[in-house]
Amino acid sequence: MGKNLNQSELEQKARELLQERGVSLEEIAELVYYLQSNYHENLSMDDCLYNVDRVLEKREVQNAILTGIQLDKLAEKKLLEEPLQTAIEIDESLYGVDEIIAFSIVNVYGSIGFTNYGYIDKQKPGVLKRLNDKSSGECHTFLDDIVGAIAAAASSRLAHSSADDKLLDD
Ligand code: MG
Repeated sequence: MGKNLNQSELEQKARELLQERGVSLEEIAELVYYLQSNYHENLSMDDCLYNVDRVLEKREVQNAILTGIQLDKLAEKKLLEEPLQTAIEIDESLYGVDEIIAFSIVNVYGSIGFTNYGYIDKQKPGVLKRLNDKSSGECHTFLDDIVGAIAAAASSRLAHSSADDKLLDD
């Protein structure tokens, strides 16, 4: 067994990276609201933001953010080897590893996260639309899936918490 990294440092770095890449927690909370407002009476943005914050406390989520954003940044600087450089830079449709990394986030609150993730990935509301705009010159091949996955996981958490489920470990 290797050494374990300090989780509060991981969490702080993950939060900094999201901010550095131009994604606010409020925007992710808006995606949660988009997914869940029909199912919860009187859902507030504070509830959505609270659940996004809880998702960001999970080590799997922090690791996915660190890994995905690092690859986006390296691709933006053209520092990856071919053919991976091109695959990530052009967001090649059969590459698919960006989605696999996102699944490790979607998974943390059970399988209903997959439905939310699939739906929001198709609709691309709010911040997801902006991250998908290829004309910006920025590379968000991993980030768009990560952001959608955090929103999907937070939606699952919200659903489980309103049902008072024991699945929640925090
Ligand atoms: Mg992607």
